[in-house]
Order: sequence, then structure tokens, then C-alpha cells
Amino acid sequence: MYVKEAEPSPAGLGITSAHYALPMGGMADVDLVLVDLDGTLYVGTRPVPGAVGAVARLRDRGVTVRFVTNTDSIAPQTLLGRLAGMGIQAPADEVLTPVVLAERLLDGLASPRLVAVASPGIRELLGRFLAARGEPASHVLICDPSYGAAYDDLDAAFHAVRAGAELIATQVARIARRDDGEHLDTGGFVRLLEYATGARARVLGKPSPDFFRLALDTAGTMPERAIMVGDDLAADVAGAQAVGMRGVLVRTGKGSERHPDNGTTQPDAIIDSLAVLPDLLLL
Ligand SMILES: [Mg+2]
Repeated sequence: MYVKEAEPSPAGLGITSAHYALPMGGMADVDLVLVDLDGTLYVGTRPVPGAVGAVARLRDRGVTVRFVTNTDSIAPQTLLGRLAGMGIQAPADEVLTPVVLAERLLDGLASPRLVAVASPGIRELLGRFLAARGEPASHVLICDPSYGAAYDDLDAAFHAVRAGAELIATQVARIARRDDGEHLDTGGFVRLLEYATGARARVLGKPSPDFFRLALDTAGTMPERAIMVGDDLAADVAGAQAVGMRGVLVRTGKGSERHPDNGTTQPDAIIDSLAVLPDLLLL
């Protein structure tokens, strides 16, 4: 690895320094960029300065972009609306969330009956799979509990898993970052149910290899021609590297923090923000 001084940041982007480290040879051979959302394209409700423009520049150069996020608090359609409200245009078929994966998974089964610990919007999306009260469940899905998940929701999930339903988690992050700081994320609730039931959850979102492979499949790209850009060393960088992609860490979001999710993973490159990625790919 060596450190290169980048072009001075365009005025007004708010990037404090433009240093980045990258492997010898650069990244000129990339056809597909998987972009994380929260912490990378935006932080909380604020777009990262220059990030939206960077996506446009990548597309202008013929690079395929997919948005891959572990967002599991809202349904994908609601997420698209939220993105549009921030000035980020993302077509539905270019956005992948673990809720999308859950719907695909259940659609592929003969007669799944689901207990879902999930927000009303996600429950509505998955409504056709929901088990009626007293009906045996085949699957339990744990999503972001911040809608107000209560004891009774978790107890129903506990009972279903104890009765034989498969435990599925959208993601297992410990900490969610919002505008007002750190909050309890889905992972703690998943681990709670694992502890209580003795079951081990199947994780749908990043860093699951299936999540990255689906993103590659939708773009028809080989892993060695793709990179993942995100602010989470474990979910984004390590997850991508495990399927043969390169993983780029941004210093926005939680990428610059000491964070319990960030282990000993070595990113293929570290950049100040998504805004400088197009320059990195040109080298
Ligand atoms: Mg992120």
C-alpha cells in the first residue's frame, strides 16, 4: 500500500483532507461499484457532500452502480422515497436490502408462514406470508426493532422458534447511527433470541455472501471486477472480500470511529468519502 495525495477537494465539498491509501496498480479495472447507503451516501438524514455527484460521475464513465444497504427499518419502496427526498435517484431494481432478500426467499418457498418482528411497513410488504394467530410458523424474521418492538413481539418469535420455525435476521449490527448519535440496532435483538432459544439465526444482509452474490448477479459482473464501498469494516469490507471482491472503506459515517463491529479486516483502500471514489478508479 502507498499513500497518494489526491487532487485538491472541490470547493464546498467539506472534505477536510483528500488523502487515500490504495494498492499498487489502482482500480482502473472496475466495472461494478456496490455503494453502501447510510454512512456512505448519507449520514442520518444528510447526504455526504459530493457523494451524489460521485455516483453520477461513475455512471457517466460506464461503471454500473448498485446500492446495497442493510436498512431494515422501512420497506424498500419507502427507502426509495426517502432517497429521492435527499436528491438521490435510485431505481428500485438497483437497490438491494435484506428486506428484498427476505421477500425473495419467502416467495421461493411452497407455503411459508411467517412471524415477523418488523415495522408496520415491512409487515405490510410481507403480509401475504404472515401466520395467523395460533397458526404454526415456518419462519421468524427479525428486522430493526426501533419501530417499538415489545416483549410480546419477541415472545411470539421465541415461541415460534422453539416450536421449530427457522430464525432469520435481516442483519446483526450492534449500533445504528442517527442524527442524534448511537442507537441499539437489530443485532442485539437477534442475539437475545438466539440466546433464549438456542437457535442460530440465518443472516440475510451484509456480510452474508448470498447478499453480495445477488448484487453481482443482478449486474452480471464477476467479483474481481467489482468493489464494495462502505463505512463498516465487518459488513461492507470483510463481507465483500469474502466473495472475492475488493472492499473500500470510507471515513464518513462510522468508518472513522472506534467501533465494536470493526475488527482486524484490512481494506483494499481507504478514502475520505465517496466523493473521491471516481478519482481512485481513474488511476
Ligand atoms: Mg453504512
